[in-house]
Amino acid sequence: MKNIKKISEWGLDYSKKPFLISGPCSAETQDQVIATAKELKSLGVKIFRAGIWKPRTRPNCFEGVGSIGLKWLTMVQKETSMLTAIEVANSKHVHEAINAGVDILWIGARTTANPFAVQEIADALKGIDIPVFVKNPINPDIELWLGAIERLYTVGLRRIGVIHRGFSVYEHSVYRNAPQWQIPIDLKNRFPNIPIICDPSHIGGKRSLIKNLSQKSVDLDFDGLMIESHIDPQNAWSDAQQQITPRSLINIIDNLIIRKVKQEEIPIDILNNLRDKIDFFDNELMETLKKRIDVVKNIAIYKQNNSITILQQDRWRVIINKSIENAVKYDLSDEFVSQLFKIIHQESINKQTEIMNEEINL
Ligand code: PEP
Ligand code: MN
Repeated sequence: MKNIKKISEWGLDYSKKPFLISGPCSAETQDQVIATAKELKSLGVKIFRAGIWKPRTRPNCFEGVGSIGLKWLTMVQKETSMLTAIEVANSKHVHEAINAGVDILWIGARTTANPFAVQEIADALKGIDIPVFVKNPINPDIELWLGAIERLYTVGLRRIGVIHRGFSVYEHSVYRNAPQWQIPIDLKNRFPNIPIICDPSHIGGKRSLIKNLSQKSVDLDFDGLMIESHIDPQNAWSDAQQQITPRSLINIIDNLIIRKVKQEEIPIDILNNLRDKIDFFDNELMETLKKRIDVVKNIAIYKQNNSITILQQDRWRVIINKSIENAVKYDLSDEFVSQLFKIIHQESINKQTEIMNEEINL
């Protein structure tokens, strides 16, 4: 997929970073759409999003106004000269969107997870040159995400971008959809041209998290942002907790710190020095992990000899509680420390299982 076009080659007005798409989660009424678009336009936003067909996790939620919303988007184009972007989930949506002159499409997270639906959309887009963004699938599966991009590429699309909107989690977390930054970064490593944007609204699920998530994505050199905005966020018909007013949006965008990417602009000896320190601590971490695993091996043998189960719930609770206490002490985030210890604990269980099974085989 080496011919995927960089965002600067999409023929859109992309003068300043971040590339920004904003507008309501859902088109609700003609007035809400037009009023939101006009205010965004007056603040310098160039691409207007709105969901017309809404994939809702549970029934009986607002499922979008449907095709009538397309007329309102045409009005947005005429009255503000903004570009419009909507989500499509099947071939009917694609045909209607193209006929209505929508400028940009995106594929939602639930749809990306379904290869049948993506193929149907790709087939409907054959021979049409329109930019399409692919949101990450709800589950953290890079192959599934890549598969969707490939299906679009195969029918001839070249203006394909990706959107990191976080991944579903079962356990309670501060996020609505937990970000896994490594996944979009891996994707970008494989396809360096692919435009990559962040959707902090669906990652955070609440207004208060949008600013920091946006800054984080900018620091990770993402190309742009898709942020939900609404003229009256509290009374939005969908995703009310995560939408912000156009004015708050611009406040966030204007205060983003855009750092330099190019290495030659950073004095190299300072950077090398800091990198040496990181390498040193990474080595220390590896040494410590190795020592810990050696202890785990001895524990496995002890448990084996004394017929004790591998998983000791009480002990595990003590470890996790202590690590969270330590997180505060060492000024590390709870989320990071508990995730880290979960991985370490899982590896410790794997190792013990391996050793105990070896013993059985003997
Ligand atoms: C949306 O952008 O409104 C939406 C439904 O997003 P996602 O597919 O990321 O849930
Ligand atoms: Mn939404």
